[in-house]
Amino acid sequence: MRTAEGLSSEQAAQLLRQAGPNLLPAEKPVPQWRKLWGEMTHFFALMLWCAAGLAFIAGMPQLAVAIVVVVVVNGVFAHIQQERAQHAAAKLRGLLPADVVVRRDGKTRKVHSSELVVDDVVLLTAGDRVPADILLLSAAACEVDESMLTGESEAVPKAAGDAAWGGTFLVNGYAEAAVSATGARTRLADIAALTSKAVSPPTPLSMELRRIVRVTAFMALGIAALFYLASLLVGFQWRDSFLFAIGVAVALVPEGLLPIVTLSLAMGAQRMASRDALVRNLEAVETLGSTTFICTDKTGTLTQNRMNAVEVFTAAGSVQIAGEGYAPEAEIHGRGVERAAEAALAARAASQGRAELHGGQWRAQGDPMEAAMDVLARRLTGTESGPVPSRRLPFDPVRRRESAIVGRDLLCKGAPETVLPACASVPGAVRDQVEAMASRGLRVIAVARRRLGEASSWQSSPAGELETAMELLGLIGLQDPPRPDVSEVIGKARQAGVKVAMITGDHPATAAAIARQIGLIGSPECVVEGTDLPEDEQMLGALLDRDGVVVSRVSPEQKLRVAKALQSRGHVVAMTGDGVNDGPALREADIGVAMGRSGTDVAREASDLVLLDDHFGTIVAAIEQGRATYANIHRFLTYHLTDNVAELTPFVIWALSGGQFPLALGVLQILALDIGTDLLPALALGAEPPGSRVLASPPERRHLMDRQLIIRVFCILGPVEAVMEMAVFSAVLAAGGWTRGNVPETGLLMAASGAAFATVVLAQVANAFACRSATVPPWVLGWGTNRLLLWAVLAELAILAVCLYVPYVSALLGQAPPPATCLLLALLAMPAVLLADWIHKAVRARLRYSWDQKRS
Ligand code: ADP
Ligand code: MG
Repeated sequence: MRTAEGLSSEQAAQLLRQAGPNLLPAEKPVPQWRKLWGEMTHFFALMLWCAAGLAFIAGMPQLAVAIVVVVVVNGVFAHIQQERAQHAAAKLRGLLPADVVVRRDGKTRKVHSSELVVDDVVLLTAGDRVPADILLLSAAACEVDESMLTGESEAVPKAAGDAAWGGTFLVNGYAEAAVSATGARTRLADIAALTSKAVSPPTPLSMELRRIVRVTAFMALGIAALFYLASLLVGFQWRDSFLFAIGVAVALVPEGLLPIVTLSLAMGAQRMASRDALVRNLEAVETLGSTTFICTDKTGTLTQNRMNAVEVFTAAGSVQIAGEGYAPEAEIHGRGVERAAEAALAARAASQGRAELHGGQWRAQGDPMEAAMDVLARRLTGTESGPVPSRRLPFDPVRRRESAIVGRDLLCKGAPETVLPACASVPGAVRDQVEAMASRGLRVIAVARRRLGEASSWQSSPAGELETAMELLGLIGLQDPPRPDVSEVIGKARQAGVKVAMITGDHPATAAAIARQIGLIGSPECVVEGTDLPEDEQMLGALLDRDGVVVSRVSPEQKLRVAKALQSRGHVVAMTGDGVNDGPALREADIGVAMGRSGTDVAREASDLVLLDDHFGTIVAAIEQGRATYANIHRFLTYHLTDNVAELTPFVIWALSGGQFPLALGVLQILALDIGTDLLPALALGAEPPGSRVLASPPERRHLMDRQLIIRVFCILGPVEAVMEMAVFSAVLAAGGWTRGNVPETGLLMAASGAAFATVVLAQVANAFACRSATVPPWVLGWGTNRLLLWAVLAELAILAVCLYVPYVSALLGQAPPPATCLLLALLAMPAVLLADWIHKAVRARLRYSWDQKRS
């Protein structure tokens, strides 16, 4: 049954039904209750449990129950958000490409790796992930990276007859293999079962957030302790003092923070996915937003990767070929067609890619450049395929060439700089021709042959020994047009203050010509060759740190150095890579970007972002979304922290007045604000879509709690809310006949407190709209442009109504419905907040403007 011809589709389908899909058995999920338990027993929750316990012992069961409700509601809420975020992440992972080339019904085709069955024949090339346990049928220069199974980083050479394990990577060469075990029966499944308990380390963003929560919690405790002492000194009962202290602590802690951040990252990731950018971990969303430098490949990312051989240069002259795509028809002009045909056949023999007819359309199967060689041979000779090589010496980015042994000939194709020196003699005109073709933007490939003769041991000699003393057959010029919208996208990146460098393995003249076409470089041009890069890291950084640099003939190690040098200059670097050896550079860069279509599995595994369409523009779109998400986190942080001021002020005034001025808000009211009315608008702010101006200005690398946020929250919006709250509270008291120094009658105090509560909620409604932008007032954005926020605000008002008018609820919170005239007064909080916001933004814009004037 096990033949090199592979299975038939019927056999494969039947085996698949019997054995099930080739997937690792799902990890045993952590039970829901365990996760929920975790959400209710973290550091902050434990503090609240203690508070509840103390409240109970102190004989305040109502407060104890309220605090428990807070913990439970908050835990359930956080749990739901986490689940949603994880669900989103799992869905994204499902989108990652996982195609394998198999031979079925005697033909090669791509199937999803989950459809593999035992005895399938798979074809693997360097960079592929081994999709199941396999037995090699034939192998060329095959090396496998088994570090994920053995921890051994050295690649292991493999030959026909050897086994390789699923989950490892082919890092060199080419192999044909029969599948020996799939899914749960693979060695990887055994090991996965052993290691599934390992927890992944926390990411920088989650650490920063945890820090914010911890710091605020400790601050809250400290201030609460101060209040406790103050109230004891004022002469309060210890029980009442305790009540105040808990109120202060609860007022100061932003309970809803962590789950909202996670959710807004997940939403950012989902939006990116809908634009073909797949992040592999949620935190990459945030890092993308602060990216300042993109190092991008040329082929396929900036260009279309639709290679077309348009020119062949040989000793007999130059031939021009004009044809559409990968179709075999073409117009041929020029001299020396026979010689050109000979070179084309050799180039095809040294290639593995083919052009194939799919549903009436000619497409590239495998590497587009190699498919172009196949098309060229068809166009020049009319033949469909050549003889099968007896040995292959596959392409690697250090040799930059590839060979095959056909009959007694070694046929080689590759970059001219590495092929020409390996030729016996090269006329001077050839080198000029390489430059001339390259400067027209063509990728130039040299083709050479060596007659190997009889008695040598060439079936086993290394590439270096075989690829010498060759005879040059010709030069092939390939055209790969830039993507149509790429110059526009580069302009966008530039405006957004993100620098772009082209880092390519191609010839400097080819790279420069393409870079000029897409407007990446102007004059004076900056084109460096990889070998000319300065040794010194600081000099390297200084050389690269400008917009529109081209580094050509670059090696994977040089790519790594480029990333490091730019980072040492403070850049946040996104680096693309597709090859096997790009792993280290992708990991070193802040954002490693891999290609979903043309790249290798190795590169994808090392990346943070996968471009499903291989398009440069997708990186910029992802940066845009990343910035938007960061801005959203900033937005709801501003929103959610603002009412802390309004929550704390009553306690401060009460303490400063030595207990003479009654307390405007109680602990339960504060909790109702923090986890009742505030939550939905905060969520809606986290879902704000990217504004049109996100890419209009340079990136700012900021902390979440930066100076701007602190000033806005604690010096402007917060105090305005607090002043309105206290003004309305005193007005209701005064209208009810209260004078200083007396204890107000309970009914009056409750009505005043209800008015204060309503004032804060209404102020937060205005604040939600004000927080939508850091620069312009809400009426410029349009009131209705975030639908979610409109619903959230409606819900907020409904909750307010319940808290005031449902008798049981309002009594529990310690308030009563205020008289209607006072509610009108409370409504004034809205214009007050909007006015303060508008003045603040206008002053800031003014300051910024004059600051810019002074600088220029
Ligand atoms: P890029 O940065 O444009 O993606 P690569 O690193 O893929 O460039 O390729 C570098 C050079 O290696 C190419 O300019 C070409 O000369 C040579 N090369 C690439 N692929 C092949 C191949 N399959 N066979 C022979 N030579 C190749
Ligand atoms: Mg490439």
